[in-house]
Amino acid sequence: MRDYVIGIDVGGTRIRMGLFDSGMQLVSEQQYLTDKDATANELIGFLAQQTEVLVDKAGMTLEQVRGIGAAFPSSVDFKRGVTLESSNIVSLNEQPVRDMLRQRLQVPVYVDNDGNVAALAEHRYGAGRGYDHMIYATLATGIGGGLILNGQLYRGMHGMAGEIGHTFISDSTGYPCGCGVIGCVHSIASGFFMARYAMDRIKEGEESRILDYAGTLSNIDMVAVGRAFQMNDPLALEVVNRGAEYLGRMFHNLNQIFDINIFVYGGGITKLGHRFIDRMIASYRHHSLIDQKYPAKFLPSELGDRAEVIGAALLVQ
Ligand SMILES: [Zn+2]
Repeated sequence: MRDYVIGIDVGGTRIRMGLFDSGMQLVSEQQYLTDKDATANELIGFLAQQTEVLVDKAGMTLEQVRGIGAAFPSSVDFKRGVTLESSNIVSLNEQPVRDMLRQRLQVPVYVDNDGNVAALAEHRYGAGRGYDHMIYATLATGIGGGLILNGQLYRGMHGMAGEIGHTFISDSTGYPCGCGVIGCVHSIASGFFMARYAMDRIKEGEESRILDYAGTLSNIDMVAVGRAFQMNDPLALEVVNRGAEYLGRMFHNLNQIFDINIFVYGGGITKLGHRFIDRMIASYRHHSLIDQKYPAKFLPSELGDRAEVIGAALLVQ
């Protein structure tokens, strides 16, 4: 009996895998660091090999697996099973990853974008349970998301809906982004570019504890910014509040377009804590006139790091 499903989340930093039974209970899981320099063939070969290890460790065989869902940190053409553009793992650009994995394992494979599968998982089992409409936002090294409209994941015409991080939000600030725009939300408010902004300000001579926590300029990341933020370091406060302001604007724009105000958020930069989240929500409420009549709900992810693996497994029909 093919009762089991596998979810794989290929992240920019980690690869997570989970084996689930027919009731979506986790039977076994494992994780690895992502080799971002691997070729697409090497990466898919690794996924195939580790899938066999996962199944083997659970005392099972691939004949018991109904299908595999895999999430990638890039735009994905769901119908064709192709990763389109990936700034995280460059070798994945335009790769037929679904067929590459299927050929190696001889099991049905489904692939999608990581934001989409996290939205699926949070809607089915997490903070978005019971809502007909919901927007999921990943606030992490990158900004991504997924749209649940009328209870269904909405993929758009090319499978690229929900790329909320690359919506254009400012022509006066931001870094050049891989999406081709200077001033998309990602180029201002992602963990990657917030850290970069802190780094550049310190290079220009700004004094900050961020540098003490990071050790060297090139080591500046959101962990160092976060520690300085907790100590009320002026530059860290500015960096984080600036990011929160633009994220609030992004949610406002999403609400204007979709008339959805159920926002589920997850991802590493939410670890900056409630002062960051409160500031983001305050920015949303500042811009949104309709919020007084229909107050938005900002709900933290309930599935955390496992959202993508669970959502990837949910791709299997
Ligand atoms: Zn962008």
